[in-house]
Amino acid sequence: MTRWQVGLICPCNSKKIFAECCGTFISGDCLPETAEALMRSRYSAFATGAIDYLIRTTHPNYLKAGDGAQIAAWMLEVRSWDKLEILDARENTVEFVAHYQDFDGHKLLHERSRFSRFNGAWVYETGH
Ligand SMILES: [Zn+2]
Repeated sequence: MTRWQVGLICPCNSKKIFAECCGTFISGDCLPETAEALMRSRYSAFATGAIDYLIRTTHPNYLKAGDGAQIAAWMLEVRSWDKLEILDARENTVEFVAHYQDFDGHKLLHERSRFSRFNGAWVYETGH
């Protein structure tokens, strides 16, 4: 389990309790059934500091040495993860806008992410 409190609303904007939403994926109890569900859980992993989850849900071909440290450094710069908007979700791609604050103020991350299945589980490949 992460440091995110079990009773809180999930960061992914689902209006569900974290422990009954992305928390089930981050804890390893369940696997996301769609690319969108994985994408939402990765946003929640950023919001809850679950670096290990972000690493294990990245396709090994796209994982670079130092990714964990880079994610950790970015997490330190982000003060809050405010909102996730899904603009378009297809079988293998999800376009989203993530709203967050860093020390300069409000920021947007707009990305179309690509996903695939690896060993029976959805994984993140890359995004632009
Ligand atoms: Zn969620």
